[in-house]
Amino acid sequence: MYYQDLGEECMVGVGPWVRAVGWLDIAYPYTQGSVEPAFLEALQQHLKRPWTPVASAGPHFCQFCPEKPRGGAANVWIPTERHVFIAPELIVHYITDHGYRPPEAFIEAVLACPAQSSPEYMELIRPTQQRYEEMSRVSRHPRR
Ligand SMILES: [Zn+2]
Repeated sequence: MYYQDLGEECMVGVGPWVRAVGWLDIAYPYTQGSVEPAFLEALQQHLKRPWTPVASAGPHFCQFCPEKPRGGAANVWIPTERHVFIAPELIVHYITDHGYRPPEAFIEAVLACPAQSSPEYMELIRPTQQRYEEMSRVSRHPRR
């Protein structure tokens, strides 16, 4: 499932507060380049036990691997003061195996982001959490 980098929509979030990153698809070109090891380490750390407001919509699989594609079901939310970057778990595989370079704004946000579920993280993610809670209330009690 393809979503444009820095677009306002991905599989698990939509709105002006969303910045999608790493939702690659073989039908669309992506930015290639190397990344700093410190960024990759920080990203992997965030993905060890990511804060998750919604259930995964199921695993997605890498389309760039010719055989035995890697799959991943988890996603990661990286909040900043203005937006929330949302990336699939597969982003690490795209970076390490397919030379993907995410947007600079995402790299900076990952490096600046407090540890997942730490008090500092929960403070930054609170508006996002409220949006998801609001969405689940609306879907449980659909308006007629
Ligand atoms: Zn792959």
